Amino acid sequence: MKILITGGAGFIGSAVVRLALARGYRVVNLDALTYAGNLANLDDIAADPGYRFVQADIRDRAALARVFAEEVPGAVMHLAAESHVDRSIDGPAAFVETNLVGTFNLLEAARAHWQGVGRPEAFRFHHISTDEVFGALGPEGRFTEDTGYDPRSPYSATKAGSDHLVRAWGATYGLPVVLSNSSNNYGPRQFPEKLIPVVILNALAGRPIPVYGDGADTRDWLFVEDHAEALLQVLERGEPGRSYNIGAEAELRNIDLVRFLCAELDRLCPEAAPHDRLIAFVPDRPGHDRRYAIDPGRIAAELGWRPSVSVEEGLRRTLRWYLDNEDWWRPLLQRDGVGRRLGAGA
Ligand code: NAD
Repeated sequence: MKILITGGAGFIGSAVVRLALARGYRVVNLDALTYAGNLANLDDIAADPGYRFVQADIRDRAALARVFAEEVPGAVMHLAAESHVDRSIDGPAAFVETNLVGTFNLLEAARAHWQGVGRPEAFRFHHISTDEVFGALGPEGRFTEDTGYDPRSPYSATKAGSDHLVRAWGATYGLPVVLSNSSNNYGPRQFPEKLIPVVILNALAGRPIPVYGDGADTRDWLFVEDHAEALLQVLERGEPGRSYNIGAEAELRNIDLVRFLCAELDRLCPEAAPHDRLIAFVPDRPGHDRRYAIDPGRIAAELGWRPSVSVEEGLRRTLRWYLDNEDWWRPLLQRDGVGRRLGAGA
């Protein structure tokens, strides 16, 4: 079976491409290569005979029609998105165009294509989304698939809108859709402007490590390879029309996460210890959500998915990867606004 994966040159998309190829799928990676897309994420599999890369933009309907006609995929996994909350506050237009209009274009291209494939009932459109669509939690409770939508940033609002479009195309046109909403991912190849790479790279450079507000904001962390495994299970066995929350039950306050990474760095690079002297509290960003937490009960009960690593082990692997792969991250610091953004996090 051939899967069309959008956004496959990004952080999560590249992990999904790698895993899908390892499972024997043929993969077409459709990616516009924005500032966040990086073909170096796929160096190890680029020559795989089951893999093909197509540079195309989901805002371009004609290009999408061509790709569906030429590739005839049996499934779509839609990850292409503008994904950085801070950028969505500075410039929301690109988020509306890619996350909302781009998703609409992809749904329309998939709808025109799906009836003509060999077994239309086996076709799947899997939309990959975030728990940020549910808004913020207080100290108690977790997001379930029945939690009401309450997005609060331009990023989460456009992702929420795209979730609604996908559900509507399932209900109205019968397109076999599945959705998943995951918590914050971390792991190798995450773009340097996101929180965990910012902490690691600033600590290595001896720069201040910015922590928003009082540091008590809480995120639920999911190792990217565990997410990729969950996504393939949702694609293969998820029920059409249904959504699945994906999380590893690994809540950490931002300040505790930063202190954990600093302590690990003290062990690995004792000459620069203590790294926590670099922690610098910065003013909170507007509308910052206090706490996210996922209840992964449905995906555990219905699909049997469980995370394979603890958050401590996943963070150690991630740290080790950034220490060993400076030739991957160093060139990215020159990209559009990234150097400046190392002063922030997300
Ligand atoms: P990323 O920013 O690392 O990658 C996004 C990819 O999409 C890039 O390769 C980029 O080139 C591509 N892209 C952007 N606009 C495009 C367009 N118009 N046409 C074609 N390609 C385009 O993002 P990520 O962190 O890997 O996230 C992937 C998906 O997972 C997103 O949909 C995001 O909303 C969702 N998600 C991410 C997280 C997280 O913690 N990173 C958590 C939950 C859900």
